[in-house]
Formats: sequence, structure tokens, C-alpha cells
Amino acid sequence: MKKVAILGAGESGTGAAVLAQQSGWDVWVSDRGTIAAPYRQELDHCRIQWEQNRHTRERIFAADVVVKSPGIPDQIPLIQDLLTAGIPVISEIEFAFRHTTEATVIGITGSNGKTTTTKLLYHLLDTAGYSVNIGGNIGKSYARLVAQQARPYYVLEISSFQLDGTVDFHPQIAILLNITPDHLDRYDYQMEKYIQSKLRIAKNLEQRDCKLYNGDDANISAQLAGRERPFATIAIQGDPFDGQYLEVGPYRFDWTKCGLKGAHNRFNARCAIEAALRLGVEPAVIQTGLESFVNAPHRLEWVARIAGVDYLNDSKATNVDATYFALAAQDQTVVWILGGTDKGNDYAPLFELAEQKVKAIVCLGLDNRKIRTAFAERVATIVETQSAEAAVHRARELANPGEVVLLSPACASFDLFAHYEDRGNQFKRAVLNLRDQPGP
Ligand code: ADP
Repeated sequence: MKKVAILGAGESGTGAAVLAQQSGWDVWVSDRGTIAAPYRQELDHCRIQWEQNRHTRERIFAADVVVKSPGIPDQIPLIQDLLTAGIPVISEIEFAFRHTTEATVIGITGSNGKTTTTKLLYHLLDTAGYSVNIGGNIGKSYARLVAQQARPYYVLEISSFQLDGTVDFHPQIAILLNITPDHLDRYDYQMEKYIQSKLRIAKNLEQRDCKLYNGDDANISAQLAGRERPFATIAIQGDPFDGQYLEVGPYRFDWTKCGLKGAHNRFNARCAIEAALRLGVEPAVIQTGLESFVNAPHRLEWVARIAGVDYLNDSKATNVDATYFALAAQDQTVVWILGGTDKGNDYAPLFELAEQKVKAIVCLGLDNRKIRTAFAERVATIVETQSAEAAVHRARELANPGEVVLLSPACASFDLFAHYEDRGNQFKRAVLNLRDQPGP
């Protein structure tokens, strides 16, 4: 019996273990931390052997192949030693792909917009009545889907960490949304390494496959210049900002009837529509799907209008590029809640939009010096807060009717919050509480 060792027992590791067991592998799961109770129970239920709070090297080195969870960096000694010993280390995406039979796989990656595009494409196919799975970096892991609910279509959100361990992974449609700086700590602070990781989404594509990419993205275009096989490639670019219609190939869709807003979402939607058309969905069904689509929370999510001020929750904007598009999407004057754990941000791309649209910045972070310095000459009012509630109260004092309070932090949330959802939820709660309180 061939042996597989699985490192990490979160959603992807547990999914890989279940799939491996079902496919007749001898499975060993090892997690250096504590495994969450539901996953432990699931492993026990499936009679899969596991350990936690340690890695027993003898058992791991006895494997024919090692499946690594995306959270584990390649640089750690264990992985380096496995590679030196000639033991293949692959990602859960690769392992799941090797066990996928007769399905159409759509892989979606990029620095920003993955979840939105993945959910929208899934929704368009689902609306058309296709039997389709959604998962990968959101919801259920790809391996779990293959093991427990195989379907003819898989729409997968895929992160760069998941792409790093791919070898034969070969989606029939690969969507590369954009490549802007993020997660550089995992790539030796070298943008080039991060770019190469993202490009792996399309490395096995063949003539009959399709690659959709962002033709306006300098990092992608520089890589593709002169080297691209034209048959497999569609550049999505040249969209007039915020018109009523969305044009994709010979078709027009009424964008005003879709709940998504902003140039970035127009781009995401055009990618999803192009893929849906290629998969045979009728344009009229796509229009219906656009109209009924509801995005995941924390992505330019409208929360409430209070005393004539709109409150928007874009807590998922954890890097500068995402925040750029959130500011660009605003027509009204903005009170901007910004800050958190800085991942090495360069705020310069935001200067022009801040000067045009932002009347005040409410910092929401432990250390706001960098933001103060960056925007001191550009935004008249900058105040500091250290809780979502305080930020919302300060923003209310600063905003006039007809203006917008936008939480789009451009930073991770770990200094003050458990994660971006926690930050977004606390923000929403504080906003909704305003309704019950007298004005300033
Ligand atoms: P991901 O899954 O890649 O993190 P999401 O769809 O969850 O992407 O969106 C993350 C953040 O990026 C949100 O703040 C959203 O408004 C913004 N965003 C979405 N699509 C794009 C895009 N194409 N370019 C830049 N920013 C985007």
C-alpha cells in the first residue's frame, strides 16, 4: 500500500486525508499545532491515524508522498529535509487533482478578487442548472469535494500558497485576476517569486484550454510578453469605468441591475462571464444570475444609511490595491477608516484618490505613525482610534449627510482583531448601534 503523510490538519489537510483513505492510501496525518476538535473527530470517525503538537519524523519520512497544507512555508527545515531526501512534497490541490475524474475544473487566482469571482462564476453556472462544486481556498477544500461530492464542474479559488505545491494541476479554464504585492513575507520579500507562484495556475494549459488574464496588469503582461500561446489566452482589458453596460465578446449585460459596484468588480464580473460563456451558459441566464448574485460580506458591503451617511464595510481590503479600488468606486466625499497590521505597505498609489475624495482619515490600529506621515500633507483631518466602536463614533462626528464612511483598512487586522471578519463584524455592529443613539 502506498503511503501518504499529510502535514497540517485544517480543512485542506483533513480533506486530503479523507480522500487518500478513500482512495486506498495508507494515511498518516501530522500537525505541529493542536488540531481543531471537529477535524480530530472526523479523522477518528474515518479511522485515520493522526498526531498533534509534534511531527514524528520517522513516520513522515516513511511516506511515498507528502501533502503539505498551504499554511506551512517551504522554508522550514522539515520540508527542506524531505526534499533533500527525494520525497515529493505536493499541495492538497495537486493531490485532489490527481484523484479528479472526468470533470471540468476552473481555477481562479490573483492577489485580489478571487472570492468574488469564484462565487459569481459558481452562481452563474448554478443558475444555469449545472451540477457544480465551489471550494478550494474558500469553504470546502478541493480534496474534500472530490472525496464527498464529486460533480462534473469545480470552480476553485486557489491561493499562491496552494499553487506552490502543484505539478500536474491542469484546470481547463485558468483565471489570473491580477498580481499586486501581498504575502511577500512568504516569498523572501521578492515580488518575482510571488509572480512565478501565481503563474503556475496556467502552466499545464493546452490548446483546447482557456486562460483569462488581466491585460491591464503590468506584472502579468511583463511575464507574458512574446511568450504566450495565443490560442489559450484572452486578455480582459480596456473597460470604460462604470458605464451602464458590461461588454463581453459580442454580448452586453446590464450592470446597473447587479449588486456589485466599482471598476474592480466590473473586471471580476467580465472574467466570470467570459468563463460562463465558454462553458455554454446562455447570455440571458447570465443576466439573470448577475441580478440575483449576493457577494460574500466584508467586500464593499453596504451596511446602513444613518443621518444621510452611508457606511461601507470593506474589511477584506487587507492590502493597498484592494483599498485603491474601494476609494476609486466612491462618488461621494469619504471619511476613511484605515490601518491595522502593516505588511510593508507603500501608500503612494492611494495619494491621488485620497486628495480627491477623502476629507478625514480615522486610523484604526495600534501603531498609526506610518499612515500619519504618509497622509499628513494630503488629508486635512487625521484622528486615531483603537477600537471599531471608537472609529465609528469619530467617523460619525466627521461625516455630513451625503457623505460616506468607508472601512477599507489596506492592512491586516491582527493588531486589534482576531481576523478581518471580526473587524468587519465589530464595525457593522457599531454602525447599527448608532441608529439607537442620539446624534452628536
Ligand atoms: P480575495 O479572495 O482575492 O481576497 P475578494 O473577492 O475577497 O478577493 O476581495 C478582497 C478585497 O479586494 C475586497 O476589499 C475587494 O473589494 C477587493 N477587490 C475585489 N476584486 C478586486 C480586483 N479585481 N482588484 C482589486 N481589488 C479587488
